[in-house]
Amino acid sequence: MSELEGGRRWDVIVVGAGFAGSLVAQKLGEQGWRVLVLEAGHGAPDAGSGHQDAVEAYRSAMAKVPNAPYRTSAVAPSADILDLSGSPEGGYRADGYFVQRGPLPYASGYLRANGGTGLTWTGLTPRMHPEDFRAGDFGQGRNWPIGYDELEPYYRAAEREIGVAADAEEQREGVGLPLPDGYEFPMRAIPRSYLDQVMADALDGKCVQDPTEETPTPLRVVGTPHARNGRPNPGAVDGAMEGAVGSGKLCAGYASCVPICPSQAKYTPLRTQARWGGSVTLVTRAVVSRVRIGGNGRVTGVDYRTYEGDDQPTAVAARTAEADLVVLAAHAIENAKLLLASGAANSSDQVGRNLMDHPVLLTWGLMPQQVGAYRGPGSTSGLEGFRFGAARARRAPFRVEIGNWGWTWALGPPDGRVAELLRSGGPQGRGLFGPQLRRTLGDRIGREFAFQFEMEQDADPANRVTIDDRHRDALGNPRPVLHYDLSEYVKRGIAAAKTVSDQLFALLGAEDHTRFEPGPAWPGYFEYQGRPYAYRAAGHGAGTHIMGDSPATSVVDQWQRCWDHPNLYAVGCGSMPTVATSNPSLTMAALALRSAERMHRDLLARQGVDHL
Ligand SMILES: Cc1cc2nc3c(=O)[nH]c(=O)nc-3n(C[C@H](O)[C@H](O)[C@H](O)COP(=O)(O)OP(=O)(O)OC[C@H]3O[C@@H](n4cnc5c(N)ncnc54)[C@H](O)[C@@H]3O)c2cc1C
Ligand code: SF4
Repeated sequence: MSELEGGRRWDVIVVGAGFAGSLVAQKLGEQGWRVLVLEAGHGAPDAGSGHQDAVEAYRSAMAKVPNAPYRTSAVAPSADILDLSGSPEGGYRADGYFVQRGPLPYASGYLRANGGTGLTWTGLTPRMHPEDFRAGDFGQGRNWPIGYDELEPYYRAAEREIGVAADAEEQREGVGLPLPDGYEFPMRAIPRSYLDQVMADALDGKCVQDPTEETPTPLRVVGTPHARNGRPNPGAVDGAMEGAVGSGKLCAGYASCVPICPSQAKYTPLRTQARWGGSVTLVTRAVVSRVRIGGNGRVTGVDYRTYEGDDQPTAVAARTAEADLVVLAAHAIENAKLLLASGAANSSDQVGRNLMDHPVLLTWGLMPQQVGAYRGPGSTSGLEGFRFGAARARRAPFRVEIGNWGWTWALGPPDGRVAELLRSGGPQGRGLFGPQLRRTLGDRIGREFAFQFEMEQDADPANRVTIDDRHRDALGNPRPVLHYDLSEYVKRGIAAAKTVSDQLFALLGAEDHTRFEPGPAWPGYFEYQGRPYAYRAAGHGAGTHIMGDSPATSVVDQWQRCWDHPNLYAVGCGSMPTVATSNPSLTMAALALRSAERMHRDLLARQGVDHL
């Protein structure tokens, strides 16, 4: 019994107070279940002073990377993108929490603090398309055990919960999404950036030739759904603004959404936590190390350790909590690690395998005119024409984000460009100073733009998370050991995307500054068919407790319930059989809400209540 919780037995233990865990706890708490949420990280930032502290930490951080505003803990380490660097001779070095073994690096991070990675995320919330649930029909990846139609009501519920801003008609026409008749998003679409409008003027109605397609692909700039406060939509149905509660204001275009929105216009899981009822108990600084399994395959609870402090944790205490149902919601990689460390749910040998992300090809350049770079959310529109259709049998499909934040993701913030001009921006490679420097900067920075080609990665069992006794963290918990690579399918997609990019630059009359070479800035550098490429990663880890319709080939069933343990759920992107080309968290949220209904029914059944 848990000392901390006074020997109380819980209905449900949720491991992780991030995106998925906060939603599940909210829904089960609403039904009156006694829910214990164990969160490895510290409690701040809350919606008030904690948020201000995080904004201050971000302001004073040298490297404005996703985890910069948040204190990290030595006993619940986070994966940080600064852990990776490329080598001049090719290859990469990984010096952080992950132990990396693959030919190419898994280049995404995540945050272990209350609220999880949903504190630092960008907040883009496109739905998956019906075709995305049937990747296996194209000979690539797996089919889902459920289809779009089964998830559709939960997409609406997730959009309400999160408070999504989008234009339903644009999503129907521009993406081909079958939204129900009369459906309106809770908030009106976030206005397009000026760059989006310039792009639309130049590209809409034109075509480019994808080398893997027989016919040219028509172009259309389409707005992207956002989890950030826009104007409420009067056409939306009752309760449609659930996600826009708290101190969040309208999105005002600060352009620092990753990692933190000063005005709290961006949704974070702390908003959902603000609505938790009295039956939900959150314990922070509580690192779960093992799921306890009883004799009959049912799980009985978890082992965890509490601590005080952050950098130098003290008062570490081992504890146990018991419950009728355990929900792992610790992030795709941490869920897999916990299952492996517990010897749980792995009769299929699929735990930790099929690790997926969205490898991102970046291309960047200067538009012929000023486009107002570095304003608004990171991306407000994209090109959707490369996501679907027969070509996905031949190469990874991709979604193209139009990047509002200049060259930041490719080359870092503009101060790097200032240093370069100071060093060698003038005639004969001499430095530029004074008015000339100001003029050049004024001219160039406002013309910067980038395309972000987000590739679907296929589920490859060889891409995996394992654990190894030789690699442990400060609490003695295993560190994730990763093997990661890009398949021929993904590399073909990246090569096709680069060809598309070349044509887009020509249509825009833009100067292309894209250049990939091995070196510290590009750990994801590789060569394919004699040409250089590199990728960044989107932070969209998925697939590690893959969902399916057979216990022989998958870890969880369509409810995210482990086949091997009827009262153990693993929720989050780790359940996704395909990661498609859409940012995954809205789909993950819809899945979590659907699973919470099933958990409720399981709990009633356990109590012998007829719920049918
Ligand atoms: C920079 C960045 C930008 C992103 N942008 C987008 C976007 O625009 N759109 C989108 O759809 N997705 C985006 N994502 C992905 C999105 O953030 C994740 O899909 C989402 O946060 C995953 O939710 P989760 O609940 O599974 O995990 P997390 O949000 O990571 O939460 C897991 C929680 O579990 C806790 N935990 C971990 N281990 C333990 C343990 N042993 N014991 C107890 N607690 C534990 C963690 O501290 C954390 O609070 C982005 C990610 C990054 C990194
Ligand atoms: S653009 Fe600014 S106000 Fe809007 S979500 Fe991003 S940081 Fe917040």
